[in-house]
Amino acid sequence: MSLKKKRIFVAGSTGMVGSAIVRLLEAHGCSELLTTTSADLDLIDQASVREFFEEKQPEIVILAAAKVGGILANDTFRADFLFENLAIETNVIHTAFKAGVEKLIFLGSSCIYPRLADQPIIEESLLTGPLEPTNEPYAIAKIAGIKLCENYYRQHGANFYSVMPTNLYGRNDNFDLDSSHVIPALIRKFSAAKANGDPEVIVWGSGTPRREFLLVDDLADAILFLLENVEASDIYGQGISHVNIGCGEDIEIRELASMIGEIIGFSGSITYDTDKPDGTPRKLLDVSRLSGLGWTAKTPLDAGLKSTIEWFQSSENTLAKKA
Ligand code: GDP
Repeated sequence: MSLKKKRIFVAGSTGMVGSAIVRLLEAHGCSELLTTTSADLDLIDQASVREFFEEKQPEIVILAAAKVGGILANDTFRADFLFENLAIETNVIHTAFKAGVEKLIFLGSSCIYPRLADQPIIEESLLTGPLEPTNEPYAIAKIAGIKLCENYYRQHGANFYSVMPTNLYGRNDNFDLDSSHVIPALIRKFSAAKANGDPEVIVWGSGTPRREFLLVDDLADAILFLLENVEASDIYGQGISHVNIGCGEDIEIRELASMIGEIIGFSGSITYDTDKPDGTPRKLLDVSRLSGLGWTAKTPLDAGLKSTIEWFQSSENTLAKKA
């Protein structure tokens, strides 16, 4: 499919994922991108979403809008995470179907899988066991989104399908210490400690959980590949409801903290706050389906961390000194 002249709606284009997709599509020559902010389109409001589709008539939709956050935010604002994500998904996916959208890709998250899924996690693990309690509301909403896409395909033949990215990081991430994920939190903490000459950085949990991380620009590259080359029938025809996107390697939080500290040039000590939750012990996606379709990740973790740290430190962002 040639994308250059298509009206492509990137829902969530101000977020880390949506903005990376917009950057890449623009660089790819897509001139008909439709983007909105939450001020001009409230995706939680069904009538506004319907009006937007009637007026702009998108042909392709990438649903990257979501209420997102790290382990503490998910565990605290449980009702908000469930309601807002369900509302965004039902509004956008149903309206896209009604409007005859040619193709829709919905972005989920690897937390949809059972807490103790066999590693690396294959797509078929979905709904085979209990979820991680700290982010169960978010996961339930994302599972509902996958099932919406799958069943609009099964009932109506809609070319809608879902992708499950692993933990993402990169430019435009949320660097707020209370609600961020681990990489932006550690980049901010180590940068502040270095700038202020602090002797210690506190890392949450035991440091032993393992996570897989993908640079958001690699995710955008995967989405572009899927838009151009992979249809809903290619996914559902394999007996799966969605496809994983990751790099295929994971790392201990302890090791990640050392890497970030080293890149930033922090020479003090690292302390673990075991009053904070560890979350799921390990989360590594099996990416063989995606590599079978023809895409693999390109950016090694150290290179991605370096570019993200440079972006954080050089952007007008003054957060680094405030932590
Ligand atoms: P998760 O993958 O849903 O658990 O999300 P996070 O990225 O928030 O957390 C991943 C792991 O990093 C968990 O084991 C956290 O306890 C750990 N971690 C260590 N330090 C931090 C921190 O400063 N912020 C966050 N969010 N997580 C941290």
